[in-house]
Amino acid sequence: MGQRHHKQKAASPPASVNAVAVLDIVLYPDDRLRAKCKPVESFDDELQALIDDMIETMYDAPGIGLAAPQVGRDLQLTVIDTRDREKPDPDNPGLLVLINPRIVEKSSETLTWEEGCLSIPGVFDDVTRPKRVVVEALDRHGEPFTIEGEELLAICLQHEIDHLKGVLFLDYLSRLKMRMAMKTYKRTKAGYLADLKKKREEKGDPA
Ligand SMILES: [Zn+2]
Repeated sequence: MGQRHHKQKAASPPASVNAVAVLDIVLYPDDRLRAKCKPVESFDDELQALIDDMIETMYDAPGIGLAAPQVGRDLQLTVIDTRDREKPDPDNPGLLVLINPRIVEKSSETLTWEEGCLSIPGVFDDVTRPKRVVVEALDRHGEPFTIEGEELLAICLQHEIDHLKGVLFLDYLSRLKMRMAMKTYKRTKAGYLADLKKKREEKGDPA
């Protein structure tokens, strides 16, 4: 998930001895964003490397959530970090890695939040969702855990779990709002691609 303001850019990536890479983010529209992702079955080194790369990619963007289909991988895997560096919250769980997650409880109370998505840069719109959710998932080693999220964390959990089913926040918009969003996206996508090209040229990577 992305946000209009970058002030949520929070924690620095955890130190790692392995070389991690910032992955290319799949941009809307792309069939890979519409896949119903497969459950993760093997918690091997390849998965660990993918998780580390996804964490790096999320912090680099910067974003507060990233799902495997957004880096072209058809797996039920998402990483989330909704911490705000300027407003530390002791209740925030920090960096989360969720594998094969499922929502087991939703509040009837809802919340409207302005969402964005790293795969749809520059587009932000209000979406109404349950204000609190409980999610069961596996951690990066395959151990089950339960996480309860409220407000931003609840929104982010739902947004990312939607990705694993091929659902995007755009799908919740009215036809009129969708038309407006696509108008904006034409411009913002071009800007995003131009920035990306510049960034790569500065790094000396082939464009
Ligand atoms: Zn997203």
